[in-house]
Amino acid sequence: MNTEQIYYNPVLETLPRERLKQLQFKKFQQLFRWGYERSRFHRALYDQAGIRPEDIRTWDDIRRVPKVEKSMMRDIQRKDPFPYGDALCVPLEEVTEFRQTSGTTGQPVYQPDTWQDWEWWAECWSYILWAQGYRPRDRVFLPFGYNVFVAFWAGHYAAEKIGCEVVPGGVLDTQARILKIQELQATAMMATPTYVLGMADTARKMGLAPENMTVEKITCAGEPGASILSTKKRMEDAWAAKVYDHAGATEIGAWSYECTAQPGGLHVNEAFFLVEIEDMDTGEIIEEPGRRGKMIISALDRQAQPCIRFDSKDVIEWAEDPCPCGRTFRLIKGGVQGRADDITKVKGVLLSPGAIEEVVRGTEGLGDEFQVVVDKVGDIDRITLKVEVVNEYKQRKQEIERHLKDQLRLKTNLGYVLEFHEPGTLPRYEVKARRFQDLRKEH
Ligand SMILES: [Zn+2]
Repeated sequence: MNTEQIYYNPVLETLPRERLKQLQFKKFQQLFRWGYERSRFHRALYDQAGIRPEDIRTWDDIRRVPKVEKSMMRDIQRKDPFPYGDALCVPLEEVTEFRQTSGTTGQPVYQPDTWQDWEWWAECWSYILWAQGYRPRDRVFLPFGYNVFVAFWAGHYAAEKIGCEVVPGGVLDTQARILKIQELQATAMMATPTYVLGMADTARKMGLAPENMTVEKITCAGEPGASILSTKKRMEDAWAAKVYDHAGATEIGAWSYECTAQPGGLHVNEAFFLVEIEDMDTGEIIEEPGRRGKMIISALDRQAQPCIRFDSKDVIEWAEDPCPCGRTFRLIKGGVQGRADDITKVKGVLLSPGAIEEVVRGTEGLGDEFQVVVDKVGDIDRITLKVEVVNEYKQRKQEIERHLKDQLRLKTNLGYVLEFHEPGTLPRYEVKARRFQDLRKEH
């Protein structure tokens, strides 16, 4: 492959919109037929709704196809054929990969893939890495605990596929990983935003300067941080590297990527995925930019356990302008803005955890960690924001407090109880951070 070329797939990534829509439509028809003919789970769902493969003739027909929720997938697990249940579309012996969801929102869902699916994973990730400037000369370090959770497994194989040199940092602890990056002069790495910041912190405690190391680019996934500008800036400053976002999921695939133009959002890989945004109140499909809704997604080429109009609960919105990079794949603004379940009403106002993160990480003198707790005092909602003040800023606590209160009021329209903690005392996370707690729900 010509390393000068901008796009991993110059044909698909610049396909005129109309042709892209045709391609998606054709693929969706095939996918629907595949699920209907091969999975008892899907056939029962569609028979109940009265939709058969020959009924998918227009885009409106696609919108009549019943959505699949994660809880429905949970219900069929551990049944025949064990352990996946009857959404499996291939003979069990064709399954080569077992993965499961991270389980942050309940019992994990199992995900089988065939070898062809696995190659598809690596192909989708190749679009991501190429768009973020990965080339064969790169030495890529993966500070990632290789396990049943899919996370960066596919990033690993894609990096190999495009010709990079891959260093798996599996069971090493954080210090050993940092030393390995230094020793091998790695040029790229992939991790969650929380871990990228945590590694920089550990490096500094070891007396090293992460900004003087050789890492040039970092691919983030697992949390929305790399699309939150103040968090992105903290990571870029800490490592003197470019930081790019990617959103994907075990039960969906690697469906989006930020490119080197850093347009403030993610491209949807529309050659492989169909993303629909649904209004959370009316259920109507949103085509225009600037209106938030939840993502309904189909993985158009995945075979073993298909993903057909999956209700992801990710909150997203279409961006206004096309990306300067020239890709015709549509952009979603600001990445994934949160989970539909997390975006709750506090004192009657919609609260988005991402907006709080933006303010905290954009405030000078605060550490990287924070926690938000929502509870009730009598009948009144209360939000407590816990932050850490770094030692050099302790004298300026009042100034920080004033700034935080103003910014939070401005960005979220809510008032907060602020708690200041000693540096390093709030919980730290390696994989999926849980910084938002709604105690009103838990009681
Ligand atoms: Zn772009």
